[in-house]
Amino acid sequence: MNTYTVKAFGTDAPESSLKQMSIERRDVTEKDVEINILYCGICHSDLHTARNEWHGTTYPAVPGHEIVGRVTKVGNGVTKFKTGDYVAVGCMVDSCRECSHCKAGLEQYCENGNTGTYNGHDKYLNHQTFGGYSERIIVDQDFVLRVPENLDLAATAPLLCAGITTWSPLKHWKVGAGQKVGIAGIGGLGHMGVKLAKAMGAEVVVITTSPSKTADAQRLGANEVIVSTDEEQMKANANTLHFIVDCISAQHDVNAYLSLLKTDGTLALVGAPEHPLPIAPFSLIPARKNFAGSTIGGIAETQEMLDFCGKHNITADIELIAIQDVNQAYERLLKGDVKYRFVIDMATLKG
Ligand code: NAP
Ligand code: ZN
Ligand code: ZN
Repeated sequence: MNTYTVKAFGTDAPESSLKQMSIERRDVTEKDVEINILYCGICHSDLHTARNEWHGTTYPAVPGHEIVGRVTKVGNGVTKFKTGDYVAVGCMVDSCRECSHCKAGLEQYCENGNTGTYNGHDKYLNHQTFGGYSERIIVDQDFVLRVPENLDLAATAPLLCAGITTWSPLKHWKVGAGQKVGIAGIGGLGHMGVKLAKAMGAEVVVITTSPSKTADAQRLGANEVIVSTDEEQMKANANTLHFIVDCISAQHDVNAYLSLLKTDGTLALVGAPEHPLPIAPFSLIPARKNFAGSTIGGIAETQEMLDFCGKHNITADIELIAIQDVNQAYERLLKGDVKYRFVIDMATLKG
């Protein structure tokens, strides 16, 4: 297989900073699209992976799975895209396409494992996949998304992970008018969860550790804000929510959040801290509460979310940064100091 070298930003070890490096990309095969990456969002999963917090990182690691770019080349068999199109790539670049989940449009739950955009297994080159902190990426057309024309390209990038990861559970658990929905942790995922749940017609309650985010939460669409570190506020809101999307990146007491659910309510965990989250049996049993999980979303569902965002003019609130500032952005992410997603301007990757 023919390959070529592109510039990228990644890390060689868990304790190392990210730095510029070269990576190998394949030439387009029949169904491939070559994308010149314009913008890439910074997801907390990038940080978990770069620092091996999920204990499965292969190095060198090049993170990035909130990708927006422009098509520069297509294979002979590509029918869905042409050179010059603005396109996007999210957290997956392939799956088996044959299992029942793939056939049902649930590629994220592929029984044979989907191929992550980074730290997955690149079946063409037989090494780990490299993500969007790079000049270009080559992706099978079936895993490439269309970007709605009216949306700002940089602010669209975070929809590819933060957007779909909150959209999918909100849809799956049929959130809508007449329901009170909690969004816990107002970072990249959480702030998208607020915007999407609001647009779906739900009453939105932000659950945050940061009282300073109250005004922003209201601006993003929240009807109410609960400061989770204030026991009185937590008690006053016990048994009030139909559904919670837990978007918290660090260790936290899930039992406190479960106490906010009504009977039969569900807390869907999307945040993925490094260590287990203990659950007290009586957080669930007395009111038949559900503790669930969810990961990203299928390809068709991701396009549906993007089209919905186009229709409702929804994008992320972003801080655009140069790629040389990625390490500093990671430190700020750890402090909750981001409003509300860092996006890398890939034009800054030079040299
Ligand atoms: P982020 O931007 O860093 O936001 C995380 C938020 O969690 C913070 O802004 C903060 O919100 C809250 N938080 C942080 N430390 C906390 C603590 N000790 N106790 C309670 N709340 C705390 O991260 P993100 O990119 O949105 O990602 C969130 C998590 O989802 C990460 O673990 C990421 O890996 C995971 N993720 C999962 C999927 C999936 O498919 N399931 C997809 C993408 C990301 P407040 O200031 O409001 O408290
Ligand atoms: Zn992500
Ligand atoms: Zn499959």
